[in-house]
Amino acid sequence: MELGAGGVLCSSMLEDALNKIEGVPSLAQLAQGIVAPSEHDRGIEAPDKNPDLCGPDGNVYTPDPLAQMGKRTHPLIAGTKVHLITFGCQMNKYDSEMVAGLLNEKGAGFVDDPAQADLLIMNTCSVRGHAEDRVYNRLHVLKERKKQQPEFMIAVMGCMAQKEGEHIAKKFPFVDLVIGTRMLDEFPQLMERVREGARTPLVAIDVKPDVKFGETVARRESKHLAYLTVTRGCNKRCTYCVVPYTRGPEVSRSIDDVVNEAKRLVDDGVSEIMLLGQTIDTYGYDLNNDTNLWKLLNALHPIGGLKRIRFITSHPEECREELFATMADLSDKVMPFIHMPPQSGSDRMLRRMKRGYKRARYLEVVEAARKRNAEIEFCGDWIVGFSGETDEDFKESLSLMEEVRFQNSYVFKYSVREGTPAQKLPDDVPEELKKERHARLSELQEKISAEKNRARIGGIEEVMVEGPSKHGDRLTGRTRSHRLIHFAGPVSLQGQIVRVKATAATALSLQGEMTE
Ligand code: SAM
Ligand code: SF4
Repeated sequence: MELGAGGVLCSSMLEDALNKIEGVPSLAQLAQGIVAPSEHDRGIEAPDKNPDLCGPDGNVYTPDPLAQMGKRTHPLIAGTKVHLITFGCQMNKYDSEMVAGLLNEKGAGFVDDPAQADLLIMNTCSVRGHAEDRVYNRLHVLKERKKQQPEFMIAVMGCMAQKEGEHIAKKFPFVDLVIGTRMLDEFPQLMERVREGARTPLVAIDVKPDVKFGETVARRESKHLAYLTVTRGCNKRCTYCVVPYTRGPEVSRSIDDVVNEAKRLVDDGVSEIMLLGQTIDTYGYDLNNDTNLWKLLNALHPIGGLKRIRFITSHPEECREELFATMADLSDKVMPFIHMPPQSGSDRMLRRMKRGYKRARYLEVVEAARKRNAEIEFCGDWIVGFSGETDEDFKESLSLMEEVRFQNSYVFKYSVREGTPAQKLPDDVPEELKKERHARLSELQEKISAEKNRARIGGIEEVMVEGPSKHGDRLTGRTRSHRLIHFAGPVSLQGQIVRVKATAATALSLQGEMTE
């Protein structure tokens, strides 16, 4: 079976392919800066030399020379009480944790209760309309508080800030800082500018190629688990997806850079790392020196104290035999779990979505992976109700789910995103039908998950202990295949790997008892 050449994707071929997609900016355009279509419409231009910061009124704030020379400390940040809310994916969580790490280094403190905060940060998501609505709703509510407490500061960061920055600044002028996806490493400096009296909202929408968090140690939710972004952005152009416009073209970090961060995390108590990339299989292709995901896994594997490595998200067109071989070779640390979204089981829909593969290819990849290692489990993302989806198309999704027997899935109703190629296609599946398909696909997944989990009863699972379960009386951990499992044991086992016998199962989790 042919899974495609394991080498470097030729960027000019990719460029040609992308240029054929109507209304999509080219890679070269993207490389010059993130092309958020609405930004162009608003006629806001970044000046040639110092394009970093533009205010909504066209004011340009030049970068802080002292901060750039590493000479500015951040007295204004010290003592600030911060509450940070994260919407969206793991990549947003990683960004939040790094920004929190930066603020922490400058002496900021963190509070659980937003009412106690001096600075409220929202890290936003644009992938679906619902995520954006939640942020707008919060901003409406915050208006009152800002009126009564003008010194209270509000920052909006991440994808929505990138895409809707100027709009947010105009509609919510009481916001202090709006900061896009590739300016996040400058968060403390920008916040300090606000404190020093810069005109607000200060809008920082990047044209920088990369985000460099330096040697920052993330301030993480979990002591033992850490996210680690290895590529930012995406070079694919799935017609429904806003990510290439909010996060820009794909930029990989060097293997050394990733390994050094992983070592810092392990020194900080981390035992499991999840590597993040929108299409993690193309990690390193932009570095042009034979860097790739399997070499990265080999470089991370020897780190003493690092017990588990996971990675997301895989792309069916890009997933390679070499990866499966590496997963088999390094199976003591690289976990047998692949999050590879099919989005649809219908070739007609996949073509309309410009996913770049057919159903048959998806199945070939699954087969090749399982041939190498039968333990590998798959997780899927699905979009129901995409433009033109008929009952027949939808049935193809149901049948693909059955055929692959995913361990779990995330099912989404299609949501039109401004500026994406699919915005030009009719959103012609009625909301009620989207809901119905969402329910049917979710129910099928639930049935499969329950069956697969029940089949584990009686077996022994190697479990990484995450901590006390939500109800507090038991521990929660993850099996090698990322299943949740609950069992009795002392909290001191957090971050350890223990053996647990599965005794009961639902679609969502296992129950078990620790064994020797
Ligand atoms: N890079 C990953 C990939 O290629 O599958 C996924 C990135 S996206 C942030 C996460 C998921 O959101 C996608 O897999 C897709 O199922 C869903 N999604 C993206 N755009 C969507 C849209 N416009 N409407 C509904 N769901 C969407
Ligand atoms: Fe969006 Fe993923 Fe497609 Fe990239 S590969 S455009 S992130 S769905």
